[in-house]
Amino acid sequence: MIEKMSHQQFAVSVPPLPTLPVAGGDLRFPVRRIYCVGRNYLAHIREFGNDEKAPPLFFTKAPDMIVQDGAAIPYPPLTQNYHHEVELVAAIGKSGANIPVESALGHVYGYAVGFDMTRRDLQQAAAKAGRPWEIGKSFDHSAPCGTIHPASQVGHITKGAIQIRVNGEVRQHSDINQMMWNVAEIVQHLSLQVTLEPGDLIYTGTPEGVGPVVSGDTMVGSIDGLSDLTIKIA
Ligand code: MN
Repeated sequence: MIEKMSHQQFAVSVPPLPTLPVAGGDLRFPVRRIYCVGRNYLAHIREFGNDEKAPPLFFTKAPDMIVQDGAAIPYPPLTQNYHHEVELVAAIGKSGANIPVESALGHVYGYAVGFDMTRRDLQQAAAKAGRPWEIGKSFDHSAPCGTIHPASQVGHITKGAIQIRVNGEVRQHSDINQMMWNVAEIVQHLSLQVTLEPGDLIYTGTPEGVGPVVSGDTMVGSIDGLSDLTIKIA
């Protein structure tokens, strides 16, 4: 493939493949698609008054919206209410569609801490108008993600503290065991909609306590067993 491509002429410059570091070596994880689950912690559903019994809701971000640990990202355009959402990210390592819940974790290569950065004012205005969330969720630098830890090393993440600190102050704090849909169930549901492939990332939803960040803030996300994710707003 690479040899073939070296002879191919492209009309415009070829975009780089977004990748993430993998813990424990020099391997990189190539990012194919980014899926996110909306409304997966009861207390977060209640803080916005949404339906507590709805099936998992998915939306997407583009792979090049990934931001690496340690980066400084610009405050995004068009918003006055830019929010942090700390989330467990599941990285897919094996393709599949219509995956049974019993074998779903076998499709997960590993886990990371991620931030589903959100232009909350635009998201809420879009939702109110019956429009897609896209303008509020899918924008440049909206998907910071930390080091991928292979499940072969850290196991499957089903419980443990998840939190984000902004300038040292804890803003969101919960436990992975508070997810309404666990990772296996999320993989099962999502694989009914689309075929999952190696390189896909799934941001699994955020707990309560989301709130605004401004220029100069530093966010540190943590999940038990995984590397912290540190991002500064430039
Ligand atoms: Mn989210």
